[in-house]
Amino acid sequence: MSTLELIAKAAVSHNLARSELITLLSDNGCNETLFAAADNTRRCYVGDGVHLRALIEFSNICRNNCFYCGLRRSNQNISRYRMDADEIITLAKYAAHNMGFKTIVLQSGEDMFFTVDKMCEIIHGIKQFDVALTLSIGEKTAAEYQAYKDAGADRFLLRIETTDRDLYHRLDPDMTWQNRRQCLTNIANAGLEIGSGVMVGLPEQTIESLADDILFFKEINADMIGIGPFIPHPDTPLKSAAGGSLEMSLKVMALTRLLLPDINIPATTAMETLAPNGQAKALQAGANVIMPNVTFTQYRQHYELYPGKSKTNCAIDENLQVLRNKISSIGRYIAVDKGFHKKRQVKTCPNFCD
Ligand code: SAM
Ligand code: SF4
Repeated sequence: MSTLELIAKAAVSHNLARSELITLLSDNGCNETLFAAADNTRRCYVGDGVHLRALIEFSNICRNNCFYCGLRRSNQNISRYRMDADEIITLAKYAAHNMGFKTIVLQSGEDMFFTVDKMCEIIHGIKQFDVALTLSIGEKTAAEYQAYKDAGADRFLLRIETTDRDLYHRLDPDMTWQNRRQCLTNIANAGLEIGSGVMVGLPEQTIESLADDILFFKEINADMIGIGPFIPHPDTPLKSAAGGSLEMSLKVMALTRLLLPDINIPATTAMETLAPNGQAKALQAGANVIMPNVTFTQYRQHYELYPGKSKTNCAIDENLQVLRNKISSIGRYIAVDKGFHKKRQVKTCPNFCD
């Protein structure tokens, strides 16, 4: 089948074989058609609403040493911070009541200060504000995921980072791919919505492994998938790596939309960091979520996973207005519900070429 035929097949059946994904990822001749098809599938299954999730980066302290990440424990050139429970809950309240967010996302390094009891206290505090709550705090035990769910958490984000196990083990010392995979099962078993994703452009990552990544998202029945380019950080062992491109990240994201048509897909901050219009492009190539950073500026500058990240975020209110304008300028609107994953039957969408 030609590339165009493969895109049409994916738009109708929401299925592609590994070899077909590899063909599409390898050929850049039809990228605009691929993005249009993903955009059409997004509109058909999840509509024109863009869900905004308020991101609170509450601690940059991490026990792990991932080669790609500026928060890795061996990085001495970073000021470490940790917000306390009251600060986190107060900020979440402001985001919910004053800014109108319907979802709060709490993200951090793997900071062992936040025991399961401390996290449950924070979850209880935030759930008073009638919001959905997402956690992105790393690898935990099955019992811990269950405790978060029982305390009121709704979703958990844990990127698999790559499905290439050897690559994962080269980049994440002391961690195992199998454990990360098991964590995703435990998250689902706890009844939390399951979010995962990968970085695109990791050193020695292959097109074949990106195809496997997309099939993996289907295999785990993901509710949300975040895809972003890998951006090298100067204070990490990967400082001289080439990094990922916006184009390839958008392609992996668009194919993910075609194969998992009804899930939530964010236009990631890493995409915006690579290109000033990266998120708008992503919203027009399959994405339906944005996670604006509401962390206090004094902390935000130190949550530097990769260079340039904090520059994509100006003062909270200012940033939100820019975002509103951006969303309406491409004919979209801000969704007013909590944006849970609603599973939908495969349906026939109007042809994206019409
Ligand atoms: N510590 C938790 C974890 O690892 O799951 C959550 C926070 S972690 C900083 C969130 C995500 O940032 C990671 O899953 C990874 O995909 C992404 N990330 C880290 N370093 C990056 C880099 N240099 N470029 C792009 N994304 C990066
Ligand atoms: Fe820690 Fe997450 Fe960064 Fe790895 S990616 S060093 S676990 S914050």
